[in-house]
Amino acid sequence: MNFRNHIAGTWVAPRAGKYFDNVNPADTTDIIGRFPASDGDDVEAAVASAQRGFELWKRTPAPARGDVLRRVGDLMLARKEEIANLMTREMGKPLAETRGDVQEGIDTAYYAATEGRRLFGHTVPSELRDKWAMSFRRPIGVVGLITPFNFPMAIPTWKLFPALVCGNAAILKPAEDVPHTATVLVEILLEAGLPAEVIQLVHGHGEVVGKAIVDHPGVPVISFTGSTETGSIVGATCGRMHKRLSLEMGGKNAQVVLDDADLDLALEGVLWGAFGTTGQRCTATSRLIVQRGVHDRFVAMLEAKAGALRLGDGRQPGTDVGPLIHAASRDKVERYVGIAREQGGEVVTGGRRATGGALDRGFFFQPTIVTGVQAGHRVAVEEIFGPVLSVIRVDTADEAFRINNGVPYGLSSSVYTRDVNLAFRALNELDNGITYINAPTIGAEAHLPFGGVKQTGNGHREGGWEVYEFYSETKVGYVDFSGRLQRAQIDNYPAQAAS
Ligand code: NAD
Repeated sequence: MNFRNHIAGTWVAPRAGKYFDNVNPADTTDIIGRFPASDGDDVEAAVASAQRGFELWKRTPAPARGDVLRRVGDLMLARKEEIANLMTREMGKPLAETRGDVQEGIDTAYYAATEGRRLFGHTVPSELRDKWAMSFRRPIGVVGLITPFNFPMAIPTWKLFPALVCGNAAILKPAEDVPHTATVLVEILLEAGLPAEVIQLVHGHGEVVGKAIVDHPGVPVISFTGSTETGSIVGATCGRMHKRLSLEMGGKNAQVVLDDADLDLALEGVLWGAFGTTGQRCTATSRLIVQRGVHDRFVAMLEAKAGALRLGDGRQPGTDVGPLIHAASRDKVERYVGIAREQGGEVVTGGRRATGGALDRGFFFQPTIVTGVQAGHRVAVEEIFGPVLSVIRVDTADEAFRINNGVPYGLSSSVYTRDVNLAFRALNELDNGITYINAPTIGAEAHLPFGGVKQTGNGHREGGWEVYEFYSETKVGYVDFSGRLQRAQIDNYPAQAAS
């Protein structure tokens, strides 16, 4: 089946008539459909339409915009199971996780619905009599939203819903690996009553469609989530064109297990953090930093459990770990296992493609644990984005915190300890946007700000209340009802007589 773009208020074929296959990563013989390989002409049409949509939408009161988002949440809830199934089919992670992905979208919708009745500004006293001073929010225009494959529903909603509540029109370019979920999201927005030209969906390859959106002067706001490498390209263009830009990029997240930790709890945490979503989360636990006193015992516990995880099609009951997203990801993971060995790491679990039976039809890789990793090794510094956990032994909490901070990324971290002083020190001292105490590195909630420091981002946050700042412009109004010219800083501070 040929799927379509949504441009100019209707579902349309790409102008050049080109398509790409959307393939199930658990079974490459299963083609979900053919999606538009759009180009610059499609983007041109999308921008023109979004500009018309913006003129209409920006005049719609924010509470009414929020009402649309409430209906979106209701419709997503009604279709949750269906969406989870189709998401697992195109992306691979098990159903429990795709249900969570949809739920995050629902939570984001309901939060956005109520934000339509807040969008707070400030009213502050003026320094002059009979004068009011206030700030309020204005929509910006057409926003270009470029999203990755690993959260096919949640991440598009993190961007779209606040952008829409703030009164902007949007062009969504989902990752080419997960176009079906994005298509359903746009169907739902339209069914909920969003005016059709307010949302454009343009499928296709990043270097073509994503680039055309970023390059377009009619798109003043870009929100990008993806690799740091692509983010640098996007950032260079936005810098040159003075665009407002939010970047959410890579991570190299660590779970720290100290000598006094509850090891059973820490074990559950690291299994979920490292191998959930096959390690393909921006917040995935990629480093395990363990204090010497519990290192050997904890690694032995972990080996036994990781080796028993069941790989397979995420729609089959009992599957713990799905496939990687495509062949290139699996090749990359394989390369990093080789690098780990070359640098002196010992692969104690996994380290190979998972094969046999149905697994041969997908991009499966065994959950992998490498011990004996040193802080400077490449597998301890670079993002792998697969089921590979590098274990680093340390003597003290100080050393653990230093190693946590010694990478270019700064998204998430986790510390397992029963010592309340160490827990609070970790919150204070770890250079990450998010730190969990006695919980894994993954598990963000939709109503809190989400994002990272250093090369993970550029200072913005998604989620929660902060993202609404990004999608709106602050405007200040002064109303002088004194009936005479009042000069700020001058009339109220008359010159002092010289002494
Ligand atoms: P990616 O960078 O390959 O692609 C992301 C998106 O950018 C896709 O839609 C792609 O088509 C598009 N793109 C590619 N080249 C482009 C270009 N030149 N101009 C404009 N757009 C372009 O990333 P991915 O493989 O889909 O996702 C994995 C990465 O995303 C990992 O690095 C992960 O850490 C990161 N990620 C970060 C967060 C976060 O919030 N920090 C969340 C999820 C994923």
